[in-house]
Amino acid sequence: MENILETTKSIMKKYNIRANKNLGQNFLINEDVVKSIVESSQITTEDMIIEIGPGLGTLTNELLKKAGKVICVEIDNKMIRILKDRFSEYTNFEIINEDILKIDLNSIINKNKDDKKIKRVKIVANLPYYITTPIIMKLLEEKLDIESITVMIQKEVADRLIEVPGGKNTGAITYTVYYYCESEKIMEVTNNSFIPEPDVTSEVIKMNLRKEAPVEIKNPKVMFMIIKSAFMQRRKTLLNALTNSRVFLNKQEGIEVLKKLNLDENIRAEELSINDFAKIAEIICK
Ligand code: SAM
Repeated sequence: MENILETTKSIMKKYNIRANKNLGQNFLINEDVVKSIVESSQITTEDMIIEIGPGLGTLTNELLKKAGKVICVEIDNKMIRILKDRFSEYTNFEIINEDILKIDLNSIINKNKDDKKIKRVKIVANLPYYITTPIIMKLLEEKLDIESITVMIQKEVADRLIEVPGGKNTGAITYTVYYYCESEKIMEVTNNSFIPEPDVTSEVIKMNLRKEAPVEIKNPKVMFMIIKSAFMQRRKTLLNALTNSRVFLNKQEGIEVLKKLNLDENIRAEELSINDFAKIAEIICK
């Protein structure tokens, strides 16, 4: 692998680039981390990779050597010129100069799946941290035909995403990730692995999309609405949070629902398993 620090400095100098903080630009300069992201994604020539926020192309450079196709989505048009110059010789490379939150990923994936050589689609990214949660939610909720998502994000968020519901780092998003994926920690990444250094510690995680949901539920949307309501007031008991947000018509109804499920009246949202929330949703729907 090339010397990433030298390459990054020289590209930044040549194109007169200053990292744009508003776009979450922290460029990766640690070769071990690049290697680990690429290896854990288990890329073959039958894979199409969608890279979110390629920046100067540090990860892209390695992805292009392994994947059948790489599609990069980058919002900053300053980066587009660099990427075009840098990877012009690759025929398996495409750049989309757009906001990841605004593009229709399903249609991009479906169009490329017509190519018989592409068997799987994987997401790989060193994400812009200011929009980590909306990006992850988009990738999961749009039910994309993808196999895995390998991303670097801030450690605090990573801990919540890979937690098993009921564990100490549980948040509303824990249930969403758990419902759609089996996830794992790949490695923790220190601040000095980037230019400029971010204020927070980072972590690489991998989410493998499940073939089958871990709970049977007719209407997952209702379950996720209930989870969201429960965590909006996470300092309150589940009973009070769901009564205040009108999931339960009144406290008495809530007490009866919890009793049916053998749940304590004082239980808090983060203590519930996904199965518990699925059962509450089932009762509410009836
Ligand atoms: N992949 C590069 C690396 O590892 O060095 C850069 C990673 S940097 C943390 C995040 C990248 O996401 C930047 O290039 C930034 O311009 C881009 N970005 C920020 N917001 C974006 C958005 N809404 N849509 C697409 N790309 C975005």
